[in-house]
Amino acid sequence: MGENRDLADLRRRLAEIADIESAEAVLGWDQLVMMPRPGAATRAKQLSTLRSIAHARFIDPEIGRLLDALEPYAESLPYDSDDASLIRVTRRDWDKATRVPTELSAAMARHNSEATEAWVTARANDDYASFRPWLERTLELRARYAECFEPGDDPYDVHLDQFEPELKTAEVRRVFDRIRPVLQELTSEAARDDVEPFETAFYPEDRQRELSVELMRAFGADDAFRLDPTVHPFCTSFSTQDVRLTTRYAENDLHGTSIFSTMHEAGHGLYERGVSPALERTPLAHGCSMALHESQSRLWENVIGRSPAFWRWFYPRMQSAFPEALDGVPGDRFYRTVNGVRRSLVRVDADEVTYGLHIILRFELEQRLLSGELPTADLPDAWGERFEELIGTPVPNDRLGCLQDVHWGGGSFGYFPTYQLGNVISAQIWARLLQDVPDAEEQIERGAFEAIHTWLRDHLYVLGRKFTPTETLERVVGGPIDPEPYLAYLRAKVATLRAP
Ligand code: ZN
Repeated sequence: MGENRDLADLRRRLAEIADIESAEAVLGWDQLVMMPRPGAATRAKQLSTLRSIAHARFIDPEIGRLLDALEPYAESLPYDSDDASLIRVTRRDWDKATRVPTELSAAMARHNSEATEAWVTARANDDYASFRPWLERTLELRARYAECFEPGDDPYDVHLDQFEPELKTAEVRRVFDRIRPVLQELTSEAARDDVEPFETAFYPEDRQRELSVELMRAFGADDAFRLDPTVHPFCTSFSTQDVRLTTRYAENDLHGTSIFSTMHEAGHGLYERGVSPALERTPLAHGCSMALHESQSRLWENVIGRSPAFWRWFYPRMQSAFPEALDGVPGDRFYRTVNGVRRSLVRVDADEVTYGLHIILRFELEQRLLSGELPTADLPDAWGERFEELIGTPVPNDRLGCLQDVHWGGGSFGYFPTYQLGNVISAQIWARLLQDVPDAEEQIERGAFEAIHTWLRDHLYVLGRKFTPTETLERVVGGPIDPEPYLAYLRAKVATLRAP
């Protein structure tokens, strides 16, 4: 079986597509990190050319023929072998990609980029009316996209599937119905609105950078990583040996310093870096799904990076890096502030307790928009009403309301729930890790992360995209998504926030 000519042919084709996609990623990273602004118009064309070449190569009927021919071979192999997984996952990706007419894909790509521009202007001017026609057109295109697939049990399934393959809306609803009342109760218990002076003190960029590099190295980022500044931090990788983290250096906002965004992006980066090298240049050489990816950024940023043990280790370093801001501020006061629960209007500023409520709001509203039950004209009012019910504060305008996120402008319906599922899954994976690494907290307190990183790499990162999200989670924790470890984690967190 070592010589399988069809498999060699499939692998060669997929490797070339992966190369084109890596080149796209390089151009995308450069655009957001290095490129002079006048380069934008040409860069958009370059990216679009590479995208259409990669897409055309992938939907080639010859790939379908090879997949058909390889089916008996795949069935003869263990389900979890690299070859069987490659054939199975490529089959699924190919079936999905070939169902959507090229004309519709192109129309969606063009519309999403123009609608994003319209959203930028609408948000800046707090002008929902100017964005509404774009949202209408987005919903029409989403409906046409959905018609390309067999109707699932729930009309939202097809949108969710783009980000969480084979996860069902009913399962998301089950998890969100369980957590919503607890998050509301914890918000009422813990929300505060005082501001500490050190939250808006001066944190010089060069010191932030030193600490961020120290942190990413301590977490396990080796010489395959780079860290560069950008406006909205992200992580990308061009292979498992070349991972790019980005961060931002707000100098007058503790929460906007690079410390937290670096820990978050390092989590994404360690996942990409830890994928088995045997999967390189295949469609399996990335993290499994958006939710699993987010579970790792949140695990490193929140479960570890906002824990009492972490700050017992890191606060003295922080204090000596920023003496002007932090001299005389006791560690426990600092800890309570970086974990403070606030009824903030903006999702990306939200703390761990209210974050899920921001997502539940979007999950509910986008289903109603897609089904037509909520006319786009009524979105701002529906947002305001539900926001106040869930989080308990009025929304003063659309800029801080339904216009705050890029997702609906960019056509990304079905994306929001993955952020919160990431939070839920991060606590579940952490609880499982503690069974094997029972002294993880003492290790964190010493600044030792190797055992934690190794466990995550060997149990999760190494798998790449070989399995569906549900199968992957089953392999890591032995069961489906379970909100209980997350709720226990949040309750314990809130208990540590009570003033002494
Ligand atoms: Zn993230």
